[in-house]
Amino acid sequence: MPYAFDALEPHLDARTMEIHHDKHHAAYVTNLNKAVADFPETGKLPVEELLKNLAAVPERIRTAVRNQGGGHYNHSLFWRTLTPNGGGEPKGALAGAIARRFGSFAAFKEALTKAATGQFGSGWAWLAVDGSKQLAIEPSANQDSPISHDKMPLLGIDVWEHAYYLKYQNRRPEYVAAFFNVINWDFVGNRFDQLAG
Ligand code: MN
Repeated sequence: MPYAFDALEPHLDARTMEIHHDKHHAAYVTNLNKAVADFPETGKLPVEELLKNLAAVPERIRTAVRNQGGGHYNHSLFWRTLTPNGGGEPKGALAGAIARRFGSFAAFKEALTKAATGQFGSGWAWLAVDGSKQLAIEPSANQDSPISHDKMPLLGIDVWEHAYYLKYQNRRPEYVAAFFNVINWDFVGNRFDQLAG
């Protein structure tokens, strides 16, 4: 994590960030390693490769790799998309792509918010780049990732209750609104440049 647990206060509280990183993310890593322990050929592949082609993962550990590997991959991206001096709007090529695809940043924000608040149960809402290098918004359940659906995630809002319950309880829309205040648009924009430029 490239900042302290309390760095995203008051939007994301320190206790939630600590438990989220040190307990939840850590458990995905531990359980992914357990899953591949008996499959060294699978275990030596990067998690991105496993998730891109789940059908190639041995059937006995495919669900574990999907869930635990997805959890590791999604959270590794999640921490980097946030920053204490975040929020606002993207610049550069990503700003132009959002305007073309969604009409405006406000319309994009509304669509991503709708995906995040509308996801039933645990999951994510993603801004991703598809195979044609076009922007797409998609929700996912559990720890499923756009990378398993031929898309590359740029930004994901974690809407598992573990991401917000201590501070926001059942008020997921408040958490989603606060999330926009800590987005690291420089990071997300650079990622867009690399993936779609
Ligand atoms: Mn999470």
